[in-house]
Amino acid sequence: MQEKFDMQIRNADLINAVDTTEIISNVISTHLVPDLMGNLRSYAKQSFRCTACGKSFRRMPLIQTCVCGHDLIATITRASVEKYLNLAKRLVEKYDVGKYQKARIHALSDEIELVFGKSQGDQSLLSDYA
Ligand SMILES: [Zn+2]
Repeated sequence: MQEKFDMQIRNADLINAVDTTEIISNVISTHLVPDLMGNLRSYAKQSFRCTACGKSFRRMPLIQTCVCGHDLIATITRASVEKYLNLAKRLVEKYDVGKYQKARIHALSDEIELVFGKSQGDQSLLSDYA
């Protein structure tokens, strides 16, 4: 998606008749916001998987381990939820997409921070530099 999106922006910048800001705004509404919201939802509804036998649990059991005694891990990570967050934040800073779009991204960012806590120097993703 990243590449396709980069090309779209480059094309829009080249063609004067196309409003780049409008395209960015569209991508935010149709891809980035639904993606972030969907990921947060999947994170909240995720299942847990045993590291040894692979059995999955709909929720973390009270004993916090698998029936076979091994540890359980979350199937959805913070990184996968935040995949496009930095891209989205950068776009709303760089382009004048309006208060509404900007507020949506910042609200989602706040929500992600509420769920996971403040991020502390996480590993950067390739998409952070696009
Ligand atoms: Zn197990």
